[in-house]
Amino acid sequence: MIKNKASSVKAPKLLKENKFSPLAIEVVKKLKQSGFQGYLVGGCVRDLLAGIKAKDFDISTNATPEEVRKIFKSSRIIGKRFRLVHVFSRNELIEVSTFRANTSKEDSSSGVVKDSDGKILRDNVWGTLEEDCIRRDFSVNALYFDPIENKLCDFHNGLQHIQKKILVSIGDPLVRFEEDPVRSLRAIRFSSKLNFKISNDVKEAIYQKGHLLGNISNARMFDEFCKIFLTKNALKNFNILESYGVLKYLVNSNHYAERTFGLRFQQAALINTDNRLKASKSITPGFLIAALLWPKLIDASKEQEVLNLKKFFRSMDRIIREQQTLTAVPRKFHGYIKDIWSLQLKLETRLGNQPYKILNHPRFRAAYDFLLLREEAANDSQGIGDWWTKFQKINRLEKIELLKALRESRSGPVEKKFGFLRELS
Ligand code: ATP
Ligand code: MG
Repeated sequence: MIKNKASSVKAPKLLKENKFSPLAIEVVKKLKQSGFQGYLVGGCVRDLLAGIKAKDFDISTNATPEEVRKIFKSSRIIGKRFRLVHVFSRNELIEVSTFRANTSKEDSSSGVVKDSDGKILRDNVWGTLEEDCIRRDFSVNALYFDPIENKLCDFHNGLQHIQKKILVSIGDPLVRFEEDPVRSLRAIRFSSKLNFKISNDVKEAIYQKGHLLGNISNARMFDEFCKIFLTKNALKNFNILESYGVLKYLVNSNHYAERTFGLRFQQAALINTDNRLKASKSITPGFLIAALLWPKLIDASKEQEVLNLKKFFRSMDRIIREQQTLTAVPRKFHGYIKDIWSLQLKLETRLGNQPYKILNHPRFRAAYDFLLLREEAANDSQGIGDWWTKFQKINRLEKIELLKALRESRSGPVEKKFGFLRELS
């Protein structure tokens, strides 16, 4: 039995109204004026109480999606598996979801549809606040804040768990992770983001139920991939996922041992992603995917320490396709990833006048950054990255000189052995 003792307390000081988006507060106000309940819930309440800036604002209400839609002119109903309403302004979007009933009751007419593994396929049964609480994943995610009354509803000791810095499941995690295996990834993500411990039963459930991630749609897994790897904790999350044996559901990679090029390169790319985000520079999942899969591409194209070009180009599509079965990588990134990979060869050979063309290639910058990461991970002192750093900066005449010097330094045909094979040999 899940304890569900009602508890509504005066909200802690950290939950000041001005820390929330004005639109979110406005939505709660309007819902209440229309006679409904309205609470800020989930990540925004949790993060503020944990001393982190809130990112997105979710609202929970007893109004049905249709009723919410009627109250807000700028809104639309979305979702099938989980119907909710997006209320938006020009630059913001608030998710308003209707209280759901407890999904663990087995009732085929209820609107909760599960598959043979216990996974919830559809979850659109309306309920009360108390019922809604029970179906949330972790106690720290089940705190409901009413900014108008300044009240916090905490049915599962979420506040105490935030203070103790521990992630605790609502209900038996073995059952909850069967209902939705993505909760195991969420546990890892939140514990790493908040620096919280994971309670022992949740840890055990990740080990036992992690394999069910293989049944999750690749679209949902791609969303989770982005949340895990593109939010400043990429390296940390990568290591934790691997330690729980669930990394393989997100990344089509071989397992690389410590101190091998494969792992060092993947780590360099993850650190680079984290650093770029911390410096507010742009990032794209395409670049990180290209990097995480690169060691596998090299493994597949290596033949007695020499690059087999045919295998290299042939393996590209296969490796992307395999990744695609795990996470739905949007189409636009497929060409981007292959461009970065192919350009690695051209950046190295620098044949004839190609360097001029390469410099104007739309993917040059990404491919050059990629090359620098490869050299960093390989402790490579061949200087190709430096050469390109210089080639970008100098004027036309100096470029001609640099290319001439390159030609003269090469006796005979351009090496068949590409430098990056030294990375792996
Ligand atoms: P963040 O937005 O930082 O990723 P969040 O906790 O707000 O964290 P969302 O995915 O935005 O995560 O979900 C909002 C809330 O909805 C969660 O806090 C949780 O209460 C509930 N929730 C979301 N996904 C699930 C799930 N798979 N199982 C149970 N509850 C969930
Ligand atoms: Mg959220």
